[in-house]
Amino acid sequence: MSNLSILTVHAHPDDESSKGAATIARYRSEGIHTVLVCCTGGEAGDILNEEADSHEARTDLASVRHRELDEAVRIIGYETVYRLGYRDSGMPGSEHNAHPDCFAQADLDEATGRLVAIVRAERPQVMVAYDYDHGRGHPDHIRVHEIGHLAFERAGDPAWYPDAGDPWEPKKLYYTGVMSRPRVEKMHAWFEEQGEESPYHRWLEMMAEREPKPVTTQVAVHDWMHITRDALGAHRTQVPATATWFRIDAETMRTLYPWEDYHLAESRLGPLPEGSSTFEDDLFAGLR
Ligand SMILES: [Zn+2]
Repeated sequence: MSNLSILTVHAHPDDESSKGAATIARYRSEGIHTVLVCCTGGEAGDILNEEADSHEARTDLASVRHRELDEAVRIIGYETVYRLGYRDSGMPGSEHNAHPDCFAQADLDEATGRLVAIVRAERPQVMVAYDYDHGRGHPDHIRVHEIGHLAFERAGDPAWYPDAGDPWEPKKLYYTGVMSRPRVEKMHAWFEEQGEESPYHRWLEMMAEREPKPVTTQVAVHDWMHITRDALGAHRTQVPATATWFRIDAETMRTLYPWEDYHLAESRLGPLPEGSSTFEDDLFAGLR
């Protein structure tokens, strides 16, 4: 039995499905312990799929999304799920930002302490969070970036949160959801070849404005790519059947780009070799 463990931190229900789901399914199949921390209930989300529009969704979206997350987690193969318990802060500038229970309003040290307690209980070697820029200003995604880094720094330090369990030092912190140039270019080209308007055109423009963090790590997920699709489908209120994600079928995706891409943000194993032209192919590289 492996003692390897991976802990991902995500902002809302559905982020765990759109970012890195196939990677988790692959690691679970290898016997690695898989832990999800979902920081908010997603209650500020819109109902984006009219087929999932219901009285309950309109009046108690948090409960609906709670069940959607349960279903996605089952599909992906997360063994353990923690809900950090914050309210969704909504899009930048929305009235949700000011709600006293929302993640954006939370005290940073207190929120980090909640995550540190989980890190110490689950003892992951690898943590996954977001780049600052990842959510394009979404307050909850910025918060994931902040508490991800702070928990990575503090979990092994006995001076921090002495009542939150025995110190544990994760070895690597990755960003998921990185804008990966090779991936975006492949997807864009596919839409152009079909003679369709490419939803990735805008991504290429954004990457031209600001160079995204480089991809350091590519995880091969050929056999698990259908997982992403199925898990996204579980978030029925958020994902209409016409969503971009579903426009390319799983078999085509396998031939286009059968990897999930990451940026190694922090490592206690030392930096990657300077000027390294080869990617890591495993988030646990150096740990097995
Ligand atoms: Zn999100």
